[in-house]
Amino acid sequence: MKARTSIHPVPVGIDRCYILESVGVVMVDAGAPGKIGAFKEGLASLALQARDICLVVITHGHFDHIGSARAIKEMTGARLAIHECERAAIENARKLEVPSAQSAWAKAMMRIVGPMARHLEVPRTTVDVALSDEDLDLASYGVPGRVMHTPGHTNGSVSVLLESGEAFVGDLAMNGFPMRRGPGMPVFAADAAQVHASWRKILDAGATTIYPAHGEPFPAQVLRQALAAAA
Ligand SMILES: [Zn+2]
Ligand SMILES: [Zn+2]
Repeated sequence: MKARTSIHPVPVGIDRCYILESVGVVMVDAGAPGKIGAFKEGLASLALQARDICLVVITHGHFDHIGSARAIKEMTGARLAIHECERAAIENARKLEVPSAQSAWAKAMMRIVGPMARHLEVPRTTVDVALSDEDLDLASYGVPGRVMHTPGHTNGSVSVLLESGEAFVGDLAMNGFPMRRGPGMPVFAADAAQVHASWRKILDAGATTIYPAHGEPFPAQVLRQALAAAA
């Protein structure tokens, strides 16, 4: 599939979702709870209707990525996809284990964000596509790309990689304040070695630009250099 894909970031509070518009329209992540207003505003600035979005790929089951999933699903009629091992976060509001802090700053942040996150209610809804370790080809949704299992931040984390090289990685990498000073390791990660393995996986698959959920996009080369430095 050779169609061009337009990338529309939609800010939703502490992170951002991405609307990928090609022949079909697929969205990455569903924001924090209560962010449907921000989503509507973002959508209003585009020449798109809510009903154009046919699939929402959730990169992982943390509250800031699934919080408005039900409202977005109701508004768009889109199917919801998440990795099988994290579907309970959406369907049963089961909180994922908090990943380990990867720096002193992350530990300090966790003391503030942790108790807040524990009290946040995520409205439940049903998952339509349970992802596995196999890639999901997005061609049938009209977008030239695929969903890949990229564990490390959480066990069920996935990324969307377009054929043109843009990778939407959720929290597999983060960039900038308040998370970190520049692009690199997520401040929280279930398994730092697995984060590196997943970076290698998306680089080998042809990623050229990384679009994190927290912070600005950056060249994939940054991850290649970080891997070389860690070797
Ligand atoms: Zn996360
Ligand atoms: Zn996040």
